Order: sequence, then structure tokens, then C-alpha cells
Amino acid sequence: MTKCDACNQPWSFFKVLQRLFMMKAAMDCPHCDEKQYIKKDWKRIVVPILILLIVPILLFTVEMSVNVFLLIFSLAALTAFLYMFFTLRLSSVEDWNQN
Ligand SMILES: [Zn+2]
Repeated sequence: MTKCDACNQPWSFFKVLQRLFMMKAAMDCPHCDEKQYIKKDWKRIVVPILILLIVPILLFTVEMSVNVFLLIFSLAALTAFLYMFFTLRLSSVEDWNQN
């Protein structure tokens, strides 16, 4: 489960959800009010996984009917979402722009 990098307290389901879909760089921890950022290491792992998941789907779409495509696409999206949800790592320091 996703934990705060500062106080090590686990975040609630909705808080993690909010963190995943919020565009703002920093989000306050509900336990210690410390600003939390999404870890860059995490982004580095998740982005290739998302690509690996989407590319094979796109390759096979030619022979698929729309219904099958939508079904597989939703399953892939759900898998990607669950993966992101359970692996999300937080950091007290903003390391996004240091490429
Ligand atoms: Zn905290």
C-alpha cells in the first residue's frame, strides 16, 4: 500500500486515487501534512509498462471486432490502473524535473 515518505503512514484508497489523478505536483499527507510528490523512479517503471501493455493491443486491433477490442482495452486499462494503484511510491522531495 502507498505510504507517506515522511511519516510512513499508509494513505487511504481515496487519497491514493486523488494523488494518481491530480495534476498538481504536491499533495499534503493526511497524517502529517507534509507535501508528498510522486516518485520519479516510479514513473520510470510505470510508463514503459503502460507502453508494453498498449502496443500489443494496438497491433492486434486490425483483426478484432469493436466489441472484442473494447473488452480487451478495458481489461488492459483496469490492469494498468490496479498496477499503478498498488505500486505508487511517494517522496517528500520533488524529483520530477531532474532529468
Ligand atoms: Zn505523512
